[in-house]
Amino acid sequence: MPSYTAPVKDFQFVLHDVLKASESAIPGYDELDRDFTSAILEEAGKIASEVLAPLNPVGDQQGCRLENGVVHTPEGFKAAFDQLREGGWTGLDCDPDFGGQGMPYVMGVATGEMFTAANMAFTMYQGLTHGAYSAIHIHGTDQQKQTYLPKMVSCEWTGTMNLTEPHCGTDLGLMRTKAEPQEDGSYKISGQKIFISAGDHDMSDNVIHLVLAKIPGGPDGIKGVSLFIVPKFLVNEDGSLGARNGVSVGKLEEKMGIHGNATCVMNYDEATGYLLGTAHKGMRAMFTMMNEARLGVGMQGLAVAEAAYQNAVIYAKDRLQGRAVTGTQNPDGPADPLIVHPDIRRALMDQKSFVEGARAFALWGAQMIDQARRSEDAAAEGMISLLTPVLKGFLTDEGFACAVQAQQVYGGHGYIEEWGMSQFTRDARIAMIYEGANGIQALDLVGRKLAAEGGKPAMALFEMIKTFCKENAGDEEIAKQFIEPLKTASKQLQEAAMYFMQNGMKNPNHALAGSTDFLHLFGHVCLGFMWSKMAIAAKEALASGAGDAAFYETKIATGRYYMARRLPATAMHLQRILSGADPVMALDAANF
Ligand SMILES: Cc1cc2nc3c(=O)[nH]c(=O)nc-3n(C[C@H](O)[C@H](O)[C@H](O)COP(=O)(O)OP(=O)(O)OC[C@H]3O[C@@H](n4cnc5c(N)ncnc54)[C@H](O)[C@@H]3O)c2cc1C
Repeated sequence: MPSYTAPVKDFQFVLHDVLKASESAIPGYDELDRDFTSAILEEAGKIASEVLAPLNPVGDQQGCRLENGVVHTPEGFKAAFDQLREGGWTGLDCDPDFGGQGMPYVMGVATGEMFTAANMAFTMYQGLTHGAYSAIHIHGTDQQKQTYLPKMVSCEWTGTMNLTEPHCGTDLGLMRTKAEPQEDGSYKISGQKIFISAGDHDMSDNVIHLVLAKIPGGPDGIKGVSLFIVPKFLVNEDGSLGARNGVSVGKLEEKMGIHGNATCVMNYDEATGYLLGTAHKGMRAMFTMMNEARLGVGMQGLAVAEAAYQNAVIYAKDRLQGRAVTGTQNPDGPADPLIVHPDIRRALMDQKSFVEGARAFALWGAQMIDQARRSEDAAAEGMISLLTPVLKGFLTDEGFACAVQAQQVYGGHGYIEEWGMSQFTRDARIAMIYEGANGIQALDLVGRKLAAEGGKPAMALFEMIKTFCKENAGDEEIAKQFIEPLKTASKQLQEAAMYFMQNGMKNPNHALAGSTDFLHLFGHVCLGFMWSKMAIAAKEALASGAGDAAFYETKIATGRYYMARRLPATAMHLQRILSGADPVMALDAANF
């Protein structure tokens, strides 16, 4: 059975040496000193490895069951969920006014990575609740907040997001679910939603569905979509649970992975719903949930890659096959361990350098969300909005690729279910699809985010990297190994953006045909930026003589690998982008 050990030291390094969390002016960050974050991360790590990881294969093998309209989660899930709840983990970064612990979001993201790495399907129940909590917290009336949030913070009630319908996933303007206004101000919701994660289950007393629907007579298409709170059980004025609402599970989907998470067809049959936010502005409110969910999904890519990588390392040190070409390393054994072989090293270094770079990127993103929310900083809001499709698309594409590489290290045993590596690849696959398929993330990046606010956030990022490169050009070794490659990659990113600006107006296909390459080029630049920051922080720590020298030396060597072996992918992505739409659009549909 695969194991998971939370990389607490790495989290601490990113939070303190790189992001300098406790020195930040963001309200609440002054409390994040090393001892405080260490206590939280150690404890979360224990739950992840001792409680959640052992349930991961159980969830995969048993899956969920629908019996007489009730969804049953796999054995042990409910007890683990209770444990998480009792420990206050579900409300770690939630508003204290509603029972949360009020910690910065960055701590929720750090512990979330651990829980997800240990058991992605399980952690989704809480992750979706958190997203629904945020949407109600930001867009709800006082009464809605008082009614729903305390129970959602404690996860006594869980949340869902309902967008997808059988005929519309990406193109939500085609939505058919209807919301008929009632005299008492509520709405009757009717329609069918499919693929609803955590749609129903036996771990909470109520499920609060956030449902997109159209109010008849409203504008056509996406502009006529509104968001509604639709509880499974109606809530009485005193907060107790009332009658069962007109919402039921039509079916549980059979699927490739995340078997422990209930993916439901939800039927709404004149269910009572309450408008959340403004009528016809549902996408705005839903985006609160979706932006957070997109960072969460990006983190799923990185988290599963981390878990898969850890097991690949154990296997590569244990499995004896062949001899090192440069001389026997294990003379007492019949063969050397896999880890002596350069190609296995390459696979492991690809994974290690991605996962650690991605962790820094995700925590940097979370810090930006804290800055935007806690300091009401519009520049941070613009920047995280720009980076959200990159975090989602790049981390899940690469995370899946890493999970496949980890599986490859196991050879045939990686394909056999007993070893658990197949579950990692099957689970990681969905992260590239839901929360807006990665192709759509790339369109969002190129079509909307790049030009948002007249290109201000994008220019700010290019400027930030340029200033950073200038400020750190003094150290010859760092300059050669990190700053120069970062500068080159950043210039390539700007050249690609310029190409879109010059050619996209004439023919939008020139921009759209290069969108996925642009997302990956962008992702590599962000990770190159993170690795440069980490290398400098590690070098400073080494010079101070404090801490674990081997850890910092390993960090720098891993960063060097990324800059030398992964970052050059930017040149290929740029070349593809500059080839424009013609090679992509050359064939008539009939010729495929
Ligand atoms: C396990 C699972 C859990 C899910 N959980 C939820 C949930 O909790 N709530 C929820 O509402 N939904 C959920 N979904 C639905 C998921 O978000 C959608 O499947 C996804 O958004 C894609 O929609 P679709 O499947 O209809 O694909 P389509 O929209 O039909 O897209 C098909 C492909 O075409 C591409 N494409 C579409 N339009 C364009 C375009 N204009 N330009 C270029 N490419 C395009 C897409 O990128 C995609 O690759 C879940 C799905 C699964 C499988």
